[in-house]
Amino acid sequence: MEVESPNPRAAATGVAEQLDGRRLERVEAVGKNLLLSFEGGLVLRSHLRMSGRWTVRDREASDGASKATRRVTHGRPWLVLRGSGREAVLWGGPVLELNERAVRRLGPDILARPPDLDRMVVNMRRIDQGREVGDALLDQRLVAGIGNLWKAEALWASALSPWRPLAETTDEQIRAALAEAARLMRRSVDSGREQRSIYRKVGRPCPRCRTAIQSRGQGDANRTAYWCPSCQPWKRGVRRPDA
Ligand SMILES: [Zn+2]
Repeated sequence: MEVESPNPRAAATGVAEQLDGRRLERVEAVGKNLLLSFEGGLVLRSHLRMSGRWTVRDREASDGASKATRRVTHGRPWLVLRGSGREAVLWGGPVLELNERAVRRLGPDILARPPDLDRMVVNMRRIDQGREVGDALLDQRLVAGIGNLWKAEALWASALSPWRPLAETTDEQIRAALAEAARLMRRSVDSGREQRSIYRKVGRPCPRCRTAIQSRGQGDANRTAYWCPSCQPWKRGVRRPDA
């Protein structure tokens, strides 16, 4: 396997140098993470966020195709894995992490049958309890696979505020939010449809109580949280501590 990283930001990670010449042994999806196992025990974890994507193309077509694709994606690929006949190309600024512990550092998969909710709750209790529930649900080391959409939907369905610190929640509340995420995501995967109640519905009435849905960036990545201030109070009767 030939490996190169044309994008300068990706090249700075040194990932390509470490993988070049190694055989790709296994590819598996855990939630939204793609884990690529190379010989020698190296595991590349790729999380696509909103902008990243993998494309696979014939190797001989790569010269012509790369020019055409470059215009569409506005940049150079993050990583190119080149086999004898085909090549896989990673576009857009995703999370790239290479180490032997990448697999173990991921939390249990929310789409497992059944999902290990007990383990996820234990993981949530092992971190700083000042962190907000909505932020913790997106932490792939605690639970793998929940994205921004299902975080919003699961917290609304379980009537828990994304802004509530873990210290102010019970295990049952966290477990209920995780169970809702698993149920809603499984239903979406099985049906091929996304039924949204509040995600990207700022100002629209809450389907449960008709209060206007609110939104605001949350966490280090400032990803937009959506919530109903009436159904999902920060505390009983309190909409937000700073509101
Ligand atoms: Zn409501």
